[in-house]
Amino acid sequence: MAACNGCGANDDGVSIVCRFCNAPYSDEISRNAIRCARCGATNRGGRPQCVACSASLLAMCVLCGHGTPPPATDCAKCGEAFLGAAERKSQRDAERMLGAVSGAIGNIARSGAFDIFGGGSSGSGTGAGTRHDASSSRGGGGGGRNGAPPMDT
Ligand SMILES: [Zn+2]
Ligand SMILES: [Zn+2]
Ligand SMILES: [Zn+2]
Repeated sequence: MAACNGCGANDDGVSIVCRFCNAPYSDEISRNAIRCARCGATNRGGRPQCVACSASLLAMCVLCGHGTPPPATDCAKCGEAFLGAAERKSQRDAERMLGAVSGAIGNIARSGAFDIFGGGSSGSGTGAGTRHDASSSRGGGGGGRNGAPPMDT
């Protein structure tokens, strides 16, 4: 806790300037001070809500929803910078959507939905393979040899 440089009064932990002599408590406190957007009161940095009207002074992260007290410029939870965070979020959402769509197409291809070609070629060859001319030709050959006339008599 700092004390007033002007009159030596104790820092009340809330004010930016001494409530007795109106001197700033410290350069750091003055530098980190933020103005309440609702009532215009000056608050010290790091306060979660306005000392005058109790309005929230937290910067809400658009990515994780965590509230970070001022004057931080990055989310205390996920580290995302507040500046341009909304644009980056929508860009990431778009990339995630594209990834989901291309992934779905890949799943359809792997699942065998395009199996028309494989099924057609495998069925055609087996049916024509059965032939029934083998048994008839063997019977004719055997009969011809048995019926041959005796040559040497
Ligand atoms: Zn003072
Ligand atoms: Zn306020
Ligand atoms: Zn965050």
